[in-house]
Amino acid sequence: MYPKSLAELIESFRKLPGVGEKTAERYALWATEMNEEVVNEFAKSLVNVKTKLHKCKICGNLSEDDVCEVCNDSSRNNKMILVVQSPKDVIAMERLEEFRGVYHVLGGLISSSKGVMPEDLSINSLIDRAKNADEVVLATNTTMDGETTAMYLNKLLQENCPDVLVTRIAHGLPSGGFLDYADEMTLAHALSGRNKM
Ligand SMILES: [Zn+2]
Repeated sequence: MYPKSLAELIESFRKLPGVGEKTAERYALWATEMNEEVVNEFAKSLVNVKTKLHKCKICGNLSEDDVCEVCNDSSRNNKMILVVQSPKDVIAMERLEEFRGVYHVLGGLISSSKGVMPEDLSINSLIDRAKNADEVVLATNTTMDGETTAMYLNKLLQENCPDVLVTRIAHGLPSGGFLDYADEMTLAHALSGRNKM
C-alpha cells in the first residue's frame, strides 16, 4: 500500500523507542513534506552520531575527541570517580551541575537474565583508575541488576584498592527507576546522601 521508499522510512522510524506504526507513518509523511535541506540535515545528524562519536578512552563517556570534555577539564577532581551504567547517566548528572568529580561508564550492568557478565563491562579499567582515586561512588540504578553490579564492584574494589573509599548513592531513587529519569532534586539528594559501602 505504501510506495517502497515510504514503507522503508516507516520501518526505520518504527525502530525508535516508543514509536508505533501510526507515529512512524506520521514522521515519514512529515519527511515527504519538509524541504530538502531540512531532511538532509536530519539525515546527516543521524549519521554523524555514529561516525563522529566514540567512547572516551579514559572514562567511556561519549566524545568526539579521544578524551571527553569532563576528563579533559583540569578543574574537575579526578580523585573522585562516579560509576554509572551509560552515557545518559552522565548527561543527567552533568545537567545538575553539582558533581565536580569524573565519571566511569560501565557500558551496561551485570545481568544473569540478559546474560551480561562482568567481562562484558569496562571493569578492569575502573580498577586501574580507582588505584589513584580517593573515592569511588557507585551510582548504578536501584534495580536488581544495578544492585548486583554495585555489590560486585564493591567487593572487587575492596580487594584491589583497599585504601579507596567506596560509596553508594543513597536509595532516594524509586525502586526500578533509572538514574536519568529521576527528577533533579532526587538525584541531588541521592548524591549528597551517599553511604559508605
Ligand atoms: Zn572521559
